[in-house]
Amino acid sequence: MKIHEYQAKDILAKYGVAVPRGEVANTLDEAIIVGKRLLANGATGLVVKAQIHAGGRGKGGGVKVAKTIDQAEEYAKQILGMQLITHQTGPQGQKVQRLLIEETAAIDRELYLGIVLDRAAAKLVFMASKAGGMEIEEVAAKDPDAIVKAYIDPAIGFQPYQARKLAFALGLKPTQINEAVKFMQGLYNAFVDTDSSLLEINPFITTKDDKLFALDCKINFDDNAIFRHKELKELRDIAEEDPLEVEASKFALNYIKLDGNIACMVNGAGLAMATMDIIQYAGGSPANFLDVGGGANQQQIEQAFAILLSDRNVKAIFINIFGGILRVDVLANGVVQAAKNLDVKVPIVLRLEGTNVEEGRKILKDSGLNFIVGETMQDAAAKVVAAAKGSN
Ligand code: GDP
Ligand code: MN
Repeated sequence: MKIHEYQAKDILAKYGVAVPRGEVANTLDEAIIVGKRLLANGATGLVVKAQIHAGGRGKGGGVKVAKTIDQAEEYAKQILGMQLITHQTGPQGQKVQRLLIEETAAIDRELYLGIVLDRAAAKLVFMASKAGGMEIEEVAAKDPDAIVKAYIDPAIGFQPYQARKLAFALGLKPTQINEAVKFMQGLYNAFVDTDSSLLEINPFITTKDDKLFALDCKINFDDNAIFRHKELKELRDIAEEDPLEVEASKFALNYIKLDGNIACMVNGAGLAMATMDIIQYAGGSPANFLDVGGGANQQQIEQAFAILLSDRNVKAIFINIFGGILRVDVLANGVVQAAKNLDVKVPIVLRLEGTNVEEGRKILKDSGLNFIVGETMQDAAAKVVAAAKGSN
């Protein structure tokens, strides 16, 4: 689960990590009130920051530094409501519905700090780099030595000597080392306590008067642990999520949007992966995958269909189901009902196996509807790729 920068900074502040003073604003009026308050309390300038669940906002025009309240108002007007396009939003961008208004910082250096789980090492890894303010993926690809890492033993946690090693690697001044160690310890504690899966401070800055601040913060929570954190669950902003993914989650369906034109209905994550692969292998490209899970009922199947069909890119539907707990006849009934109710215009290719497969096939045949049946997964994949091309 992703959260906004302003929410992430609230969490950091609770762990004693220094963040610039600032507040969220949902409207232009609120932005002006916050801006005036900050200026009255000693801010020398204001930063207007778009709050969306994607990085790269600065480059896309979603972060602007203002010297006066009038200028801040001008920027807030521009940014609030804009379709902000960054390398993480996709070409259509993301609508900005909230701003963070902050005091400016007198930046001396822009550095990077991050914590992620390294699955291969089965440990958390704390990363630090002098190359802050840039895309860390780019740094990792071009100059991997520019990222210094400390692997954290889960039994003893992040150790002060590790923080010191990272602080020295960043070239911090001797007078900044102790504060940097506390800063990093705060980040680590926040990460562990909230069951995060990622925490990034980019940039982590030093100021001209030698202070340290988290100028930006990104936190992702581990969805599998979110049930342990009622208060964190409330930070979810559904407006930032794909509407079809939200709709699917209401019906306990696992839907992931992709870029291609073949909709996929499968049961089980393993079969979903295999289906993605085999579509690509056959020369096609999946529009999404929708996992109806082990024991879907007829209503869920219909619901799943409705979700698949509301994606305008879909040119054909591939139903790849292995009937276990979900019996093939139940699935077939659901598909027939949905195809009738929803007036499906794109071709539907099915590959069915498992419990009650014969009954299932009979239901499809007797329906009078025009389904295409694949004998094997490969055969069905070839048929659906051809169908998607044909109905273009
Ligand atoms: P991102 O582009 O989504 O990662 O957004 P950031 O919060 O990292 O902001 C992008 C860039 O804006 C930072 O790397 C800074 O260079 C700049 N920036 C952000 N806040 C301030 C500030 O208070 N003062 C100045 N001068 N620049 C800032
Ligand atoms: Mn950033």
